[in-house]
Amino acid sequence: DEVSSLESQLGEAAGAPADSQDVAKRFDDLPISEYTKEGLREAGFTRLTAVQRAALLPALCGRDLLGAAKTGSGKTLAFLIPVLEVLYRRRWSSMDGLGALIISPTRELALQIFDELRKVGKQHQFSAGLLIGGKQVKAEQQHVNGMNMLVCTPGRLLQHMDETPGFDCSQLQVLVLDEADRILDMGFAQTVNAIIDNLPEERQTLLFSATQTKSVKDLVRLSLQDPQYIAVHAEA
Ligand code: ADP
Ligand code: MG
Repeated sequence: DEVSSLESQLGEAAGAPADSQDVAKRFDDLPISEYTKEGLREAGFTRLTAVQRAALLPALCGRDLLGAAKTGSGKTLAFLIPVLEVLYRRRWSSMDGLGALIISPTRELALQIFDELRKVGKQHQFSAGLLIGGKQVKAEQQHVNGMNMLVCTPGRLLQHMDETPGFDCSQLQVLVLDEADRILDMGFAQTVNAIIDNLPEERQTLLFSATQTKSVKDLVRLSLQDPQYIAVHAEA
């Protein structure tokens, strides 16, 4: 079908010798802010992985993205860098509220994303929160409003949307769905649909999924607009 033939084309492109690609290989060569570059340097990141080479330019151009790549290929930076840059370019400030939501299937993965965000986003002025449950919802409620970026598990995010007074997603610029297939396998399809119903339609959406099951395709139809397909099978 259309997706898998695109996948194989892109897979071949990604497996081609790096020299033949007119794509930035180093973070320093990307059209991104000095703040993000400095955060990447301090965290020890120099060269892009294959999925980052494929995903970053379309995402930085504002495209919706459907990304497939194996575990350990560096997908986190493929969405964190665009998230930081979108808010930076729009001069997002503490007054502007929630600009980016990152949804992850498990607490552990959400915490890893949050840690990487804190490192790479260290030079920016944005506030970031982690909503993963485990604590009483009341304890999180005092901090959630006004955060510029939130990293969440689906159930806890929807709980805040339903129960936290003043929780406002109306200005959201970017939605990230990481490991979408796992989110759906864990039974969160309705939760994710309800979350998306609360978000503005005009936004950028970056969706990553190792597999393209029917339920992932349904979610893609519901949440993405004219997405760029990125598939990387070989580590270049
Ligand atoms: P994925 O989400 O695809 O499974 P991660 O984003 O968790 O992969 O990255 C896997 C590991 O590779 C992490 O330890 C991360 O810090 C590291 N990593 C990611 N991108 C780079 C890079 N460009 N250079 C060096 N290490 C990287
Ligand atoms: Mg990951």
